[in-house]
Amino acid sequence: MKEFDLIKRYFAQGGHTRKDVLLGIGDDCAVTKVPENQHLAITTDTLISGVHFLADAPARSVAYKAVAVNLSDLAAAGAEPAWISLSLSLPSYDQAWVDEFVKGLFELTEYYSVQLIGGDTVTGPLALTITAQGFVPPNTELRRSTAKPGDWIYVTGNLGDAGAGLDILQGKVEASGEDRDYLINRHYYPTPRVMAGTALRRTANACIDVSDGLVADLTHILNGSGCGATVHVDRLPVSSALFDTVGAQQAYRYALSAGDDYELVFTVNEEQRGNLETSLTNANVKATCIGQITGYAGQLDLRLYDARYELDDDAGYEHRFKHG
Ligand code: ADP
Ligand code: MG
Repeated sequence: MKEFDLIKRYFAQGGHTRKDVLLGIGDDCAVTKVPENQHLAITTDTLISGVHFLADAPARSVAYKAVAVNLSDLAAAGAEPAWISLSLSLPSYDQAWVDEFVKGLFELTEYYSVQLIGGDTVTGPLALTITAQGFVPPNTELRRSTAKPGDWIYVTGNLGDAGAGLDILQGKVEASGEDRDYLINRHYYPTPRVMAGTALRRTANACIDVSDGLVADLTHILNGSGCGATVHVDRLPVSSALFDTVGAQQAYRYALSAGDDYELVFTVNEEQRGNLETSLTNANVKATCIGQITGYAGQLDLRLYDARYELDDDAGYEHRFKHG
């Protein structure tokens, strides 16, 4: 398609430029410079229309979210983002759609000084793959496999909003006014916790981002680390919008199992706890202590005001869209 040359020109013109990009869009390869004394962190995520985002999602959201989920993975590793590349499959050329897409693409890259350094554009079903690269000082990357019994478990921001936003869009939940707008916005425009990720590097023991829901993602830490955990459901951070829209019980269920929040879940030992809270306050990030890592490998003990809490997944309650 000749129009695709136009699109490529868009990508080449807009967005943030960095000094460490020696050769950007327009040649066969991008060439970049990794700072001395830093390691490279690399991640990639694909979003397919109708699978990872609603087929009628705004173009701005599609691009924004694709960048956000990749920056979120870098954040979960404690890496500072630097470059992204984009492989885009488009069914047809729609000028208005592309305009909005480019707007959404460059919002977070502008904010975090990330440069789009290349990609590919093809005709096909609507889908996009972004690869993001960032820097992390040697041996400070945050992993899933390094939680220790006794560690405190924290989560940034609020949980459950994005899942509720999706259910509102799909007509499964009633909401109105500001709460509705807020929750839908959390679904369409998630916040990657970039500052939190780098702030956690030297203090947290383990970290993961919440893409598939707190229980699912915390379980990755537990399995990776050979540990268990106690989580106090009544301490999970939920927004007043979520609480007011669905009530406490449903809010907890969203917080436990809805995906796409892209908050960070991390663990820290008693000794580092004070340092960690200080560095997060300095980074202006809210973080809530929700429980503790235990030595009971594979056991996730959920508590509601100290009573055992059962997460009934088969209550005819399907909030998730679909995750790959
Ligand atoms: P090639 O045939 O060498 O792959 P392309 O025509 O696919 O060249 O791309 C030309 C230039 O435009 C390359 O530098 C490539 O990285 C860039 N580019 C193509 N599509 C995208 C995109 N979706 N996002 C960013 N850069 C792109
Ligand atoms: Mg190409």
